[in-house]
Formats: sequence, structure tokens, C-alpha cells
Amino acid sequence: MPVASMFARALAASTLALAVAMPAQAQDTIRADIAADMPGLMELYRDLHANPELSFQEVKTARKLAAEARKLGFEVTEGVGKTGVVAVMKNGPGPVVMLRADMDGLPVVEQTGLAYASKVRAMSPAGIETGVMHACGHDTHMTGWVATARQLVKRKAEWSGTLVMILQPAEEIGSGAVAMLEDGLFTRFPKPKYVLGFHDAAQAPAGFIGYTPGFALANVDSVDIKVKGLGGHGAYPQSTKDPIVLGARIVTTLQTLISRELDPQDAAVVTVGSFQAGAKHNIISDEATLLLTVRSYSDETRAKILEGIKRIAKGEAIAAGVPEDRMPVVTMSDTFTPAVYNSPDFTRETAAMLKARFGDQRVAQVPPSMGGEDFSRFYRADPDNITSLIFWVGGVPVAEYTKAKKEGIEMPSLHSPFWAPEADTVIATAAEAMTAMTLKLMPKAP
Ligand SMILES: [Zn+2]
Ligand SMILES: [Zn+2]
Repeated sequence: MPVASMFARALAASTLALAVAMPAQAQDTIRADIAADMPGLMELYRDLHANPELSFQEVKTARKLAAEARKLGFEVTEGVGKTGVVAVMKNGPGPVVMLRADMDGLPVVEQTGLAYASKVRAMSPAGIETGVMHACGHDTHMTGWVATARQLVKRKAEWSGTLVMILQPAEEIGSGAVAMLEDGLFTRFPKPKYVLGFHDAAQAPAGFIGYTPGFALANVDSVDIKVKGLGGHGAYPQSTKDPIVLGARIVTTLQTLISRELDPQDAAVVTVGSFQAGAKHNIISDEATLLLTVRSYSDETRAKILEGIKRIAKGEAIAAGVPEDRMPVVTMSDTFTPAVYNSPDFTRETAAMLKARFGDQRVAQVPPSMGGEDFSRFYRADPDNITSLIFWVGGVPVAEYTKAKKEGIEMPSLHSPFWAPEADTVIATAAEAMTAMTLKLMPKAP
């Protein structure tokens, strides 16, 4: 999930780097307990980092962490949504709280140079051999998940309710959350009232917590446009309908969807990432293919843009004089990822609690990202009854962050082969936040 420079505005005028180096005092022993657990957690982290698995291939990862959860006393079910894991702990009356971590690595050849860098190679679903890396930091998510589970089990006497901790497969291809839901996540297991998760952030200093009330991440649609023309000799354009010229017009007119048809306050993106046609200098081909990524927040804006793409493709084809039976074919990919929506009041209340715990300088509201996350699926399964929040935890070592900002150096983003988060800080911060949030949601009746 790319989140390039999303924190820049939130942090620009802040003396955050210094503040992170001097964390606020915690009011309880959660921080100290996680710190004491850190050597073992980092061993787990390095093991996960060195052994990443691709989407829906997270077999060894799932087995390893399912065993951890069983040891802690959870009732554990494996193979939910192919490789997903559901760990349930019933602990008296109270709400059901679900904590989610995702497990998959990416087809990226790691270049961090770390001692525990991944050397793993695997076969992609397309049958191509590739390096594999936890380039999105899902290894920090899983280790934070284990750290949180341990703290909540240790504090079992302090909370009442049902804790559902899930390990989701295949976030990177936008399919894992759906797979778990379709496999009965909310019917075979207790259905949550609250759903919580975090993501490491490659554009924020280690230990910083960023939150966004409302829409936090975008609707992600992939759209294919097959532009049909009439092929022929490059020297006799009068007897053809050139799909390259028509495709180029479509690309240009698509730029007006955002700039001229949307409310300027409503953010969206239409990017043509691929334009392919033709094979030779002097042949006008009879087809061109455009591949688009479309980003938006609300359902209404999404529908408006997708309709607009169809209208523009057809309209330009008519203007070019393409015959009725050669109109462009616009296909929406079915791997759509819906926008992540953080329940606004809940997000603000939680942020206030986190500010009291970590200090104002370590917790701040950040702008929404045009990246995607299928964490959105859990809330969307029942928006009237589920309250949901995903937050960012910065991972850039403070010295590196300060230097990069001062010298205008571009930092590696998520999915970069160079992304090496300060994992211990990410894990400790996330686990402390998750533990405190969960305890707050499941108070023991006096
Ligand atoms: Zn990712
Ligand atoms: Zn991710």
C-alpha cells in the first residue's frame, strides 16, 4: 500500500523527531511489560522477516503464529479463507473485539542488506519465479499482534468480553479479507462490535501514531479499456480507424473527469498505467489496450468516475467515427478494494486516549491516503453495527527521518526493496496502543 508523503503536512511544522526520542510516561505497566518481552518478540520478528510468503501461500507463517496463540490459551482455527487464522478467547460477558494483522509478503527482491534479510524465492500465481520480501511490513503487524495477545492474556483479570484475534492472508492482492468473510468469519465465530488494526508507515518517524477519522484509505478499482479501430497500412490512414490516436484522445479526455467534473474538495485519481498497441512502424493496428487504476473515497464518487470512463471512451470513439459494432469495451476488474472508513467519533475518542498515553507530539491526525487496504471489508460487512479503526505507526528511524527532511532526501516507501522499519519501535508502540485500546473497550464490570 503506497502512502508516500502522506505525513508530510501533519509533521511539517512539528518538533516531532525530538518528541519521539522522549516518549511520554505511561500510566501503567503495559509499556514496561512489552519492553521486557521485546528480545523474544524481535527473535520472532527476524524469523518472520527472513521467511516471507506470498499472498495465499502464508502456510508456514500461519502455522507458526497459530501455535503461539494456542500456547496462550486461545481457541484457534486455521484455514479460514484459505490460509487465515482465527483465535478466540471468551472471557466473560462484554463486547466482541476483533484485532487483525495481515500476513503476506510481496514479490520483491530485498535489498536492505540487513543480516536477517529475506533470501526467499517463490513461484507467483502467474508461474513466474520471484524474490519475496516483507516490503509492506506485515511482519511488524504479526509481531505486534503476538505482543498484544500476550499482554491481554497476562491481563485477563482486567477485562471482560470476547477477544477475536485474526491473521488475514492476501492483503496485497485485496482478496484475503473477503476470503475470510466468505468462509464464515462473522458467522462461524463471534461477530465483532469493534474491529482494530494498524499499519506501519514509511513516511513517519518511528513511534509516531497517525490517525484519520472517516475515510482513511481509498476505493481502488482496476479498469481495462479495449479500444477497437480498423487496422491497415500506415501510409493509408484514410482507410483505417487508428486506435492509437483514439486511445490517446481517451487518455487526454479522462484527465477532465477529476479536473472538470468532480468537486475540487473531493479527491480522486484516474491514472492510465499502461497503453499498449501495435507491432510495427508502418502498420496501423486494429486494437489498443489501456489499463487504469482509479482511486476515490465515497461510493457516489466512485460510481460517477466509473460511469464517466465508460462515457468518455464511447464518446471519443463516436467522435472518431468508429462504427457502432467497434465501440470500446470497458471492463471493471472484480478485485475492487473498498475505501477504509474509520468510525469518526470512535477514532477521535481513541486518539484522545492515545495522546494521554503517548503525548501530543507522538499522536496526530494525518490526511487520508490514496492507497488501498482490504481491512475496509470487515466494517463494510455490517456498517450499522461495527465500529472500525486502523491507524498508522511510523517506522523510519528518527535520525534518518530528521536527515531526510532536512536534506530533502526521498525516503523508501512501503513496497520498496529498501524499506527497513525500526521494527522494535513499531512493534512496541503498536502493541501498547492495541492493548490499551482493547482494555478500554472491554472494561471489567465492578
Ligand atoms: Zn502493501
Ligand atoms: Zn500492507
